[in-house]
Amino acid sequence: MSFYVIIFLVIQMAKSVKDAKVVKEEKSSKKTTKFCMYCGSEINLTAVYCIKCGRQLIFNNNYCKNCGSKILPGVKFCTNCGIKFGE
Ligand SMILES: [Zn+2]
Ligand SMILES: [Zn+2]
Repeated sequence: MSFYVIIFLVIQMAKSVKDAKVVKEEKSSKKTTKFCMYCGSEINLTAVYCIKCGRQLIFNNNYCKNCGSKILPGVKFCTNCGIKFGE
């Protein structure tokens, strides 16, 4: 009978270790990855385009609508093409 108890405990231990590992992975993944708003694929946090569906992920002021250059926060003009933002 005690043999089954040990097996049960080992299974429970393995299960809890696995759960803890999943939680840890989810926690750490939040820092370096994000999910595509279109297809839900996990992609790099700094990625501009989804590696899976290829769609552009950032449409706000971070990127120039005219030339696609990266724009620093608070900048009123595109440093590449000179187009004015925030109209
Ligand atoms: Zn995608
Ligand atoms: Zn531009």
